[in-house]
Amino acid sequence: MRTDINALTAVRNLGILAHVDAGKTTVTERILYATGTTHKRGEVHDGTTVTDFDPQERDRGITIFAAAVSCSWDGHRINLIDTPGHVDFADEVERSLRVLDGAVAVFDAVAGVEPQSESVWRQADRHGVPRIAFVNKLDRAGADLDAAVESIRQRLHPAPLVVQLPIGREDGFTGVVDLLRLRALTWADGGDTAEEGPVPDALREEAGRRRRLLEEAVAERHPAALEEFCDRETLSAETLASALRDLTRSGDGVVVLCGSAYRNRGVEPLLDAVVAYLPSPLDVPAVRGTYDGAEQERAADPHAPFAALAFKVSATPTGRLTYLRVYSGTIGKGDTVLDAGARRTERVGRILRVRADRRTPVDRALAGDIVAVVGLKAARPGATLCAPQAPVVLEPPGVADPVVSVA
Ligand code: GDP
Repeated sequence: MRTDINALTAVRNLGILAHVDAGKTTVTERILYATGTTHKRGEVHDGTTVTDFDPQERDRGITIFAAAVSCSWDGHRINLIDTPGHVDFADEVERSLRVLDGAVAVFDAVAGVEPQSESVWRQADRHGVPRIAFVNKLDRAGADLDAAVESIRQRLHPAPLVVQLPIGREDGFTGVVDLLRLRALTWADGGDTAEEGPVPDALREEAGRRRRLLEEAVAERHPAALEEFCDRETLSAETLASALRDLTRSGDGVVVLCGSAYRNRGVEPLLDAVVAYLPSPLDVPAVRGTYDGAEQERAADPHAPFAALAFKVSATPTGRLTYLRVYSGTIGKGDTVLDAGARRTERVGRILRVRADRRTPVDRALAGDIVAVVGLKAARPGATLCAPQAPVVLEPPGVADPVVSVA
């Protein structure tokens, strides 16, 4: 059963956070496309996006109800939890944040940090969700990565760590220089996958300068990196990568990537960064809870007693679907679980892994996983479901802090 634990290191429970219109739906679409989850690209404007299940969402062109979708990238399972970007749905954002282990914050390269991006960022801070930033829409007239990064530095986080240099501006934006490997990634017009090549001559000096700035910013904040930097006056790509992972997970730095989701440029390196820097369910602290006044803790261990949080309930033709984040233990088809807050038992019908436009039945779900369950009749969003012999009402990280709603 050790394999179960090892498999957890290859899970990323990911949210995409953004100001409305920054491109969250498009980024989500392109992730599903890049991971082979969908075979055609949905476009926001023609209402074919697969994450927007609800007709009301399609009509309004905004993502109202969070949906969780699983996809695979580089041997990892990414459970993508959609979070609404609209101010009217602060509660739903809050619930989604409770079940994430990491997030991508999407910004518009023209507008930079906008008021709603700031509110959602603060909410994610309160929940201790590690983040990487994706500056989107680099193809737009007036797009300016440096200005967007500066607005991140001033309004959100003092340590944006920029790991890419754009190739070309606005309409001529064709790719990025990966500052860790000092390689160019470019996308041909209409091309789906990146082509790798040497850094263009015209950008070599600038790429070297930016690599140096990145090394200095990382060494300043990471003791082991500082040691190497002092010894060798430079940092290897491996040291940079592991320091960036540590800084992301501790919240001491925010890796910044860029691209144009609409033109499908920059999404693969973004997925690589999600896998490299954001934590797995094993890397995050155990969740705390209480029951009858007694404090409890549940670690991400498939052998511990079962505990999960219901974070979304939706009515579908299949029946009532309850989306669960499993924190500890294992849940199987036919199990009886306790809704600890309501003190009522329920029976688990089918367990489904949701993959964009398909739902695949699975026999069980383990700690760290996100699945949808059919058969629960009454559990509400926010309910803790647990093993009846080990009752707990979960308080996910950050919930002890006062929560200010988005305004
Ligand atoms: P959301 O509200 O954050 O989910 O944003 P959407 O994904 O719906 O995008 C908002 C608008 O921006 C849509 O019209 C998209 O087609 C457009 N858009 C998204 N990504 C890009 C991009 O990279 N470049 C440009 N020029 N437009 C984009």
